[in-house]
Amino acid sequence: MTMKAHGYATHSATSPLIPFQFERRDPRPDDVTIEILFCGVCHSDLHQARDNWSNSIYPMVPGHEIIGRVIAVGPEVTRFRQGDHVGVGCMVDSCLECDACEDGLEQYCRCGATYTYNALDRDGAPTYGGYSDRIVVKEKFVVKIPDRLDLKAAAPLLCAGITTWSPLRHWNVGEDSKVAVVGLGGLGHMAIKLAKALGAHVTLFTRSPGKTQDARRLGADEIVLSADESQMAGVIGKFDLIIDTVPYIHDVNPYMPTLTINGTLVLVGYLGGLEPALNTVPMIMGRKSVAGSLIGGIKETQEMFDFCGKHGIVSDIEVIKMRDVNEAYERLLKSDVKYRFVIDMASLRD
Ligand code: NAP
Ligand code: ZN
Repeated sequence: MTMKAHGYATHSATSPLIPFQFERRDPRPDDVTIEILFCGVCHSDLHQARDNWSNSIYPMVPGHEIIGRVIAVGPEVTRFRQGDHVGVGCMVDSCLECDACEDGLEQYCRCGATYTYNALDRDGAPTYGGYSDRIVVKEKFVVKIPDRLDLKAAAPLLCAGITTWSPLRHWNVGEDSKVAVVGLGGLGHMAIKLAKALGAHVTLFTRSPGKTQDARRLGADEIVLSADESQMAGVIGKFDLIIDTVPYIHDVNPYMPTLTINGTLVLVGYLGGLEPALNTVPMIMGRKSVAGSLIGGIKETQEMFDFCGKHGIVSDIEVIKMRDVNEAYERLLKSDVKYRFVIDMASLRD
C-alpha cells in the first residue's frame, strides 16, 4: 500500500517545474510521516533540476530543506509524536553500519547515503523531495525543531545551515578565529551568522557591492570586494578558515594568500575541476590546505538546531508560493535572493 502525494516536479533539464502526483511508501515501523509546511530552495535544487551534475533522475521533485508536522509515527518510533515540528535535510537513509555512519558522518557513508531526492532509496524506488505535501522518513533522519524558532525561517538550516556549521565545527572555529566567507547567498549568509555566533571575527568576500549593508547586518565585521585588488591585498595572511560557497567554476587562487599559516580554504559550492589550476606556492609557503565538505551528520544537524534555538538564529527568507518556484530559480541564477527562498506549502494547490 502506498500513499498519494502531490508536489511539483521537473521532467527534464530544460522543462519548468509543474504539478505532479506520485506515491509515498507505506510507512514502516520506524518511519515518521510528515505533513510538509515549508521547504527551502537551495542552489543544489537548481543544479539537479537542470542536470548540472549529469546525474539527474526524472521526474524529479526537488527540496531538501523540509520543515513539517508529524502526522503519524510507526510503532518503533521513540523520539517523535504526532504534532511535533520536525525537519528533514539532504539525506533520508544510509547503511548505519560502516565506520562513517558509526561516527555520525552518515553523509560520508561508505555505502553511499540516500539523498532526499534525485536518488534511489535502499528498496530501489526513486526518492522525491520536499516540494510536496507529505513525506515518509526513517526516524533516525528526522530532527527536532526547537520551539523558539520561526518554522519557515528555520527551513534553510536543514541544508544551508548544516553545510556551513559542519566545517565551522570541524575546523574548531571559536572566539579567536578569523573566518571568511566567499559569496553572500543562502549558504553564505548562514555561514556569517553561525561563525559570528561562535565568536569568530567574520569577513565576507563578495562580487556584489550592493550586499555590503546586508552583510554587516547579518554579522560580518568586514566586507572585501573580491574584484578590488587593493582590498584583497589588505587581508593577506589573515584567515584561519575560508568557506567558499560559490556555485560555479571560479578562480580560488586569489584567496590562498589571505589564509594565515595552517589556514584552510574549504570548498562547499562548486563541484568539479578547478580552473585556472591551483598554484601550490602559497600553500607550501604556509602549510595551507584546500578542502571540501558535504552537509553534516544527523547528530551534528540536531546540535546545530539546538545551538540556533539557544541563540535565536534562523535564515533571512523570502517566502514564495509553490507556483513561483521557476521564477525563483531564475532569480537564484542572478544572485537575486535575500537570502533564501522558502516555499509555503499551503500554496501547493493555488
Ligand atoms: P546561492 O544562494 O545562489 O548563493 C551563491 C552566492 O555565490 C551568490 O549569492 C553570489 O554571492 C556568489 N557567486 C559568485 N559567483 C557566482 C556565480 N557565477 N553565479 C552565482 N553566484 C555566484 O547558492 P547557495 O544555495 O548558497 O549554494 C551555493 C553552492 O553550494 C551551490 O553550488 C550548492 O549546490 C552548493 N551546496 C553544497 C552543499 C554541500 O554539502 N557541500 C550543500 C548545499 C549547497 P555574491 O553576490 O556575494 O558574490
Ligand atoms: Zn542544499
